[in-house]
Order: sequence, then C-alpha cells, then structure tokens
Amino acid sequence: MQPLKAPPRSHWDDSSFFRRPDVVLVGAGLLGLWTAHALKTLAPKLSITLLEQGTSPTGASTRNAGFACFGSLTEMLADEAKMGTEKMLSILEMRYRGIEKIKATVSLDQIDFEACGGFEQLTPEQAEALADGQAMTRLNHLLADRLGLENVYVAEQRPAASLGLRQDLPIIRNPYEGVLNSGLLVEALTQALQQKGVAFRYGFSLAQWEENGTGVEFASATGQTWSCGHLAFCTNGYMHQLLPQLNTQPARGQIILTQPIPGLALKGSFHAQEGFYYWRHVGNRILLGGARHLAFGDEATTDLSGSDFIRAALEQFLHANVWVPQDLRIERHWSGIMGFSDNKEPLVKAMGSHTSAALACNGMGVALTPVLGETLARQILSAI
Ligand SMILES: Cc1cc2nc3c(=O)[nH]c(=O)nc-3n(C[C@H](O)[C@H](O)[C@H](O)COP(=O)(O)OP(=O)(O)OC[C@H]3O[C@@H](n4cnc5c(N)ncnc54)[C@H](O)[C@@H]3O)c2cc1C
Repeated sequence: MQPLKAPPRSHWDDSSFFRRPDVVLVGAGLLGLWTAHALKTLAPKLSITLLEQGTSPTGASTRNAGFACFGSLTEMLADEAKMGTEKMLSILEMRYRGIEKIKATVSLDQIDFEACGGFEQLTPEQAEALADGQAMTRLNHLLADRLGLENVYVAEQRPAASLGLRQDLPIIRNPYEGVLNSGLLVEALTQALQQKGVAFRYGFSLAQWEENGTGVEFASATGQTWSCGHLAFCTNGYMHQLLPQLNTQPARGQIILTQPIPGLALKGSFHAQEGFYYWRHVGNRILLGGARHLAFGDEATTDLSGSDFIRAALEQFLHANVWVPQDLRIERHWSGIMGFSDNKEPLVKAMGSHTSAALACNGMGVALTPVLGETLARQILSAI
C-alpha cells in the first residue's frame, strides 16, 4: 500500500470505532444491506461493518424508481433468447423470491408498499409478434411450474385511457408486482441491522486494500487505515473504479417527478420499449425515468448531475404517453448509477482468499439484492 497521510489515531479510536471487524462490506446500498442481513442470520456472532463513501448511500438504492417488479413479458422473452430458458427463469425466480423476502422482513406500511400491479405497454411491432398468445401462455406455464403462480402475464382488458394512458396500445398486466419507497426500505434495513449490532461508517471512501495472511488491510481516500478478516465489494456502478478486471460498466439512470396532478387516474408500475421507459404514480404525482438508450455513451458515467437532453426526452415521452395537463410542472429530477456486468448477469465472485465482490446488475436490484445478498453471504462464510 502507498504511504498514507491521515493523522495517527488514538488508542481509544482503535479500541472502539476502529476495532477489527470479521467482515467489512463496502457500499451501504441494498446489496450491502441484504448481505449483512443474511450474514447476521447465518452467523449471528460475526462482527460486520458497512463502509459507505457518502453521508448516506449515493449509488442506486435510494435514487431508483421503487418498482418491486420481476420482469416484463418482452424483457423475459428477450432474456430467454440471449441466455436460454433456464438462466432467464432462475433470474426471474431470484427477483420474485427477493420481493417475497422484502415482504417477510420489513412491515409493508413502513416502506409504503402497494400491490398495485405491473403493466407493460407494447409497441405495435411487439403486439403483432405476440398476437397469437402462444409465447405468453408458454411463459405462464413455466412460471406456474416454477413459482406456483397462476397467470403472471395477463392481457389487460381495460382501455388504455382508463389506466391514464394516452396511446391506445395493448397492455400486459402482471398482478404480482407493486411499488415501494426505496429510501424507506434502505432506512428500515439499516435500522434493523444497527439493532443487531452491525456498524455503519459513512464518509469512508475505500481507495486501497491489500490481503495479508489473515485478512485485509485497507485505506480510505483520505488515508484512514483499517483491517478486517474479509472485505466484500458491493459498490455497483462504482465497481470499475476499484476492480477494473471485472469489466463492469456504470450506467446512469435519470428520473423526473411531476407536481401533484388532481384526479390522477394512473396507478401502478409501467414499462415500455423493453424497460427503457418506466413510470409510476407516487401519491398523485408521476415519476418517470429512462431514455438511457438515446445516449448510451454519455450515460456510461458516475456523474450524478444528469443531462438536459435526457430530461427533455423524458418530458416529451410523458406528454405523449400519459394523460397529464399540458402546463404540468416537473418538480424535481435526479439520477442514480447502475452497474452492469459484461454479460448483463448478476455476479458473485471470490477476488482473493479474503476478498469478494458482487453486482446485482440491471435495473431490478430492489428485487434481486435480497437473494443475491444471501449468495454473497454464503460465499463469504465459505472463505472465513
Ligand atoms: C434511476 C434508477 C432507477 C431504478 N429503478 C429501479 C426500480 O424501480 N426497481 C428496481 O428493482 N431496481 C431499480 N434500479 C436498480 C436498483 O436501484 C439497483 O439495482 C440496486 O439499488 C443496487 O443496489 P447496490 O447496493 O448493488 O448498489 P448501490 O445502491 O449503488 O450501492 C453501492 C454503494 O456503494 C457505495 N460506494 C461505491 N464506491 C465506494 C467506495 N470506494 N467506498 C465506499 N463506498 C462506496 C456507493 O456510494 C453506493 O451507496 C434503478 C436504478 C436506477 C439508477
């Protein structure tokens, strides 16, 4: 490791805040939190610390759209074509079980969970390709066998206008999906873990690390040194900065939120164009995000400031697709950073004898991280 510039710590620091934990998880977003949750369940005596570079999590977990969804029909069919039926089903199952785990772990009122259903608006080309209903029926049978759920994908009979949509396009409904407040979910998990003795250190940006015979020595960007038994990276869209050999990519997602709309008809989580646009109600406001596909290169960034170009595209999509007043104001916009692996699949990997990394990969980490965190926890336990 490089020579470090932070002032020497006191004897008291080292015997309290900087005791050597068994496990340090880098990143206090949903993956770090669910991994700590699984570790505490599987090995309650383990001492665990989460490190977070921000004063609160600053990646995707509190900056997303809050969809509790496990996959729209066309996305699942596209995944099946890319990765095969079994891989597609296993990822979908992980997401479904993840949502069930959220429901079993925190009170639904505490996280504003609403079982309002998920909707996919088809393009005319998608509608034509699916017109005979065979693909939907086949997928429904596969999911009934795998998850015991009947009719996951249903052709919506209500007219688009009654759902608050302007375009009269066919819609597929998934009655098992919903929405939640992801900030409240992160907060609830953080508080539950603190009660179990898990420590959190905010404002610690991990910059260097080195394995020794019994664990890992590491340092922050400001030169704080520390050590632990096992170090696991849950750094999502920032992973490439620390572990470039994993070939992960950052992907910025941008969101707009409208002012309140009296009498808003739209209720539910909606996707269109293979998930590149997504929108939902938040009380009587509309949250809408996406459009990353219009500028893939520019959006492969960790810069959270966002771009006027994408914001304008989101506003345009909103007015073209949803019944909203013409003079509607956008009250707020923000962005978050996703992380993608090179094959677009989740990864859990040993990086050394005392180091691991995991990446939820894709825009459905709310659903995926509860189960992926358990996989990472088992990998860590097998190494210590
Ligand atoms: C705009 C947007 C909308 C989305 N919408 C949805 C949705 O509706 N439903 C859904 O299921 N998923 C959605 N997602 C995806 C979902 O939010 C993510 O998959 C999930 O939050 C990933 O959790 P994570 O813990 O892996 O990553 P993150 O939440 O990004 O956590 C990683 C943490 O690591 C920290 N970190 C990074 N580097 C360091 C370092 N060197 N030292 C210390 N800390 C570090 C970061 O600050 C960050 O807090 C969306 C994502 C975005 C960006």
